[in-house]
Amino acid sequence: MTFAWSPGGDFGSPTYSLPVRVVDGVKSTFINERRRRWREALDLALGWWMLPFALTYRPESEQAYIATPQTVSSLSVNPLIIANAIALIRMHADVAGDSAGWIAEMGGGICLDTPWRAWWMQGGRATIAATIAHESGHALGFGHGGNGVMMGAGKPNEQERQLAVTYYGT
Ligand SMILES: [Zn+2]
Repeated sequence: MTFAWSPGGDFGSPTYSLPVRVVDGVKSTFINERRRRWREALDLALGWWMLPFALTYRPESEQAYIATPQTVSSLSVNPLIIANAIALIRMHADVAGDSAGWIAEMGGGICLDTPWRAWWMQGGRATIAATIAHESGHALGFGHGGNGVMMGAGKPNEQERQLAVTYYGT
């Protein structure tokens, strides 16, 4: 089954091969306790989706540019995309709104997270994981709909997990 808000619907039809490669460019930007909390939250978030993921790392210094609202708006996110992967990128700004998506012309997904924001700095692992799960959901082809994590719940619900598993054929 497909909904307008599920993978293959209005938000896009990602073409990742399995396992879905996730390239974490955020971890390298943290030190000590924050790095540990990020990794735990990321593991939690990816695990909730119940899809096969292959997690690798990319130092932020290897990105085409450091993501700020100015660079992202002037250069687009395309140079930050990694084909056939979901790129996790840190936004260097205290701006409202994490964002993510599947970029069809680049064949890759992207999650822009803003961990400078106060709630990221102070939030618990589950709060951070819920954001990562929501944004990675966009990169997996979900829009906003249903009543799970894509509409603000703390983690993907059974319907979302089934829609993802069905779309990716796992
Ligand atoms: Zn969203």
